Amino acid sequence: MGKVIAIANQKGGVGKTTTAINLAASLAALEFRTLIIDADPQANSTSGLGFNPQEMQNSIYECMIEEVETGDIILETDFPNLHLIPSHIDLVGAEIEMINLKDREHRMKAAITEVRQQYDFIVIDCSPSLGLITINSLTAADSVIIPVQCEYFALEGLGKLLNTITIIQSRLNTELIIEGILLTMYDLRLRLSNQVVTEVTNHFQSLVFNTIIPRNVRISEAPSYGIPVMAQDAESKGAVSYLNLAREILEKNGLLSSDKQMGVN
Ligand code: ADP
Ligand code: MG
Repeated sequence: MGKVIAIANQKGGVGKTTTAINLAASLAALEFRTLIIDADPQANSTSGLGFNPQEMQNSIYECMIEEVETGDIILETDFPNLHLIPSHIDLVGAEIEMINLKDREHRMKAAITEVRQQYDFIVIDCSPSLGLITINSLTAADSVIIPVQCEYFALEGLGKLLNTITIIQSRLNTELIIEGILLTMYDLRLRLSNQVVTEVTNHFQSLVFNTIIPRNVRISEAPSYGIPVMAQDAESKGAVSYLNLAREILEKNGLLSSDKQMGVN
C-alpha cells in the first residue's frame, strides 16, 4: 500500500510543486513506484512533467465526484516508475461544486484507495489555499511535507496551516503526521537565508528535515522543459538535494536498503 504524502502550504511560491515533482522523480529513480496527484488548478505539476493542462480532459476532481475511475485517468510520464494524475483549470470550480456532496472531505481518499496498491508512494501537490481540495488532500494523506522558503516572512501563515493540520488530525484523519518541514530556496550567501534556517530549526527542532534545498537555477529551469531537474542535470545541486530528501524520507520510514543508498548517478 502506497504511502500518501501531501505537499502543503497555503502560501504560494514556497516550492510545493518543485518539491512534489522532484521528490517524486527521486523516489521513482530509486525504483519506488510513484504517483503524483496534481491537486492545484494552476496545474504546474502537470505542465512541469511535460503535459499541456489545456488538453487534459480529467483531473482528480472527476475521480472525487465519481465521474471517472481513478485508474483510467493516470498518465505515464517519460520517466520510469513515475505516473501522474493531471490537473486542469476546471478544478477551480470544483471546491464550490463539492460543498453539498456527502462525505465531501473524504472524496480524495476514496479516489486514491482505488489505485493505492499499485504504488509505493503517492505525492499530492496541493494548491495555495486551505480550501476543500486541500482539506481532502490532508484527509487522504498519511503525512504532510511543509515547504518553507528561506525568505522574509518565512513563518507567516505557518500557524494557520499547523492549526488546520491539528483540526484535521482531530476530526478527519487521526493518522496524519507531519513528515517534515522542508527549507527551500536556501542561499548560502544571504544572511537572511541563514537566519531563517536558524529560526525555523530553533522553533520546530526535529520536525525540520536535515536536507535543505538550495536556490538553484537548474531547478527553476527544469519545468520549462517539462522535466524534473535530475533529468536535466543529475549532478546539479538541486537534483542532488532532492535525491537526498528522498533518501532522508526513506530512511525515516525504514525503507532505505543498502543498494538504494548508492543512488542513481
Ligand atoms: P509553489 O508550488 O509553492 O507555488 P513552486 O514550486 O512553483 O512553488 O516555486 C515557485 C517558483 O520558484 C517557481 O518558479 C520555481 O521554479 C522556483 N523555485 C522553487 N524552488 C526553487 C529552488 N530551490 N531554486 C530556484 N528556484 C526555485
Ligand atoms: Mg504549485
